Parts: sequence; C-alpha cells; structure tokens
Amino acid sequence: MSNTTPRILIVGGGYAGFYTAWKLEKHLRRGEAEVTIVDPLPYMTYQPFLPEVAAGSIEARHSVVSLRRHLKRTRVVTAKITGIDHANKVATITPSIGEPWQEEYDQIVVTAGAVSRTFPIPGIADNAIGLKTIEEAVAIRDQQNAAVELEASGNVTIDTIADIARTGVERISSGALTHQATWLDLGFDWFDKTLS
Ligand SMILES: Cc1cc2nc3c(=O)[nH]c(=O)nc-3n(C[C@H](O)[C@H](O)[C@H](O)COP(=O)(O)OP(=O)(O)OC[C@H]3O[C@@H](n4cnc5c(N)ncnc54)[C@H](O)[C@@H]3O)c2cc1C
Repeated sequence: MSNTTPRILIVGGGYAGFYTAWKLEKHLRRGEAEVTIVDPLPYMTYQPFLPEVAAGSIEARHSVVSLRRHLKRTRVVTAKITGIDHANKVATITPSIGEPWQEEYDQIVVTAGAVSRTFPIPGIADNAIGLKTIEEAVAIRDQQNAAVELEASGNVTIDTIADIARTGVERISSGALTHQATWLDLGFDWFDKTLS
C-alpha cells in the first residue's frame, strides 16, 4: 500500500460492518483502498438466529461468522473504537489489553449497532436476560434446560406457556424460570397499560 492509498475504517463488525467489508473486498481492485474493520468481538453475530440458539434448535457456532476467516483482504482489529475526531479524521482504538492508539482514516463507516433497552419496566433490568448476543442466547437456553430438568424431576410445575409468534419460539416459563417469567409477566403488563 502506498501512502496515498485511501484508508476506509469500519467501526463495528456486525451485520452492516461485515457486509460493508465483504462487498468492498469484491468491488475494490487490489491496492485501491486499505480497509480496516474494528470490533471487540472477532465474529459477526447473525442475530435473527439467536431465538433458535435460545430454543436449542441450532448450535451457538451456527449463528456467528468469523471475521478473519471470511474477510481475507480486510485488516481485522479486535478492539473498541472509543473516540472519533471527525474534523481531523482520527479514531481512537482501545484494545481490551494494552494501550489505546490513534489511527487516521479517509472514510469512516460507523456501524456500531444498538444496545438492548429495558423500557421503564420495574425489575426488568435486574431480572431479565436480553437476546442480543450469543452469550445471552446461550444463557437463556441453559436456563430453560435447567428449568425443564427441574420440572421433569417433579420439583416445580410448569404454569405458563407463552408462544412468541414473531420469532416462532416457544418459551416455557415456570417457577424456576424466574428471569423469563418476570420478563414476560412484566412486559405484557407494561404493554397492556401502555396500550390501554
Ligand atoms: C433476536 C433478534 C432477531 C432479529 N431478527 C431479524 C430478522 O428476522 N430480520 C431482520 O431484518 N433483522 C432482524 N434483527 C435485526 C438485525 O439483526 C439487526 O438489524 C442488525 O444486526 C443490525 O446490524 P448492525 O451492523 O447495525 O448492528 P450489529 O449487528 O448489532 O453489529 C454492531 C457491531 O458493532 C460492534 N460495536 C459496538 N460498539 C463498538 C465500538 N465502540 N467499537 C467497535 N465495535 C463496536 C458490536 O460488537 C457489534 O459486533 C434481529 C435482531 C435480534 C436481536
């Protein structure tokens, strides 16, 4: 790469960031630009599959795509962008271990995604598990499995079956599934009050 090669910096290697880099690899001629993608995670999570992971229908690894394995011509940096100085076109990159550094860019693509919101529902922040990351999906799956095991041992009784039609996932909540029962009960209660 020459000093004048344009530098494209992609913030976030999720769905939008990954596809941006992937398409740029297809469209850019060799040496036409230097593409860097920065994400604290080394993989892209295909979030529409998370309900299936939570339901135990597919394995967690089937819902993630390794950035390094699939982006052969992109520089992959496993770190967080902690600052963007748009005026001077400089980004601050902070790794989980080690000192932050600054990098100049010519074009920046900001695709850092979103975070789960809990809405003003009392108790939800403390009791609920989000469904945004692979770790959360696996935690929900494990909790459900544990609850079903408990129920099968005769220790608790399953009292609610909620079918979340949009995702096609059937959730079984019981006394042992405190988090999900709380989420469902409080969530429906909040929506009832808000909509009425
Ligand atoms: C359960 C679920 C089901 C869904 N189902 C569908 C569906 O059926 N159809 C549909 O169209 N959409 C669906 N979506 C929505 C879709 O997954 C999102 O719209 C999409 O993932 C958004 O892509 P994104 O790149 O903006 O964000 P994300 O894919 O969330 O990626 C953001 C990335 O940025 C990284 N990041 C965050 N902060 C920083 C930082 N400071 N520095 C560097 N990197 C950072 C994160 O680690 C992450 O990898 C679903 C979402 C969920 C949660």
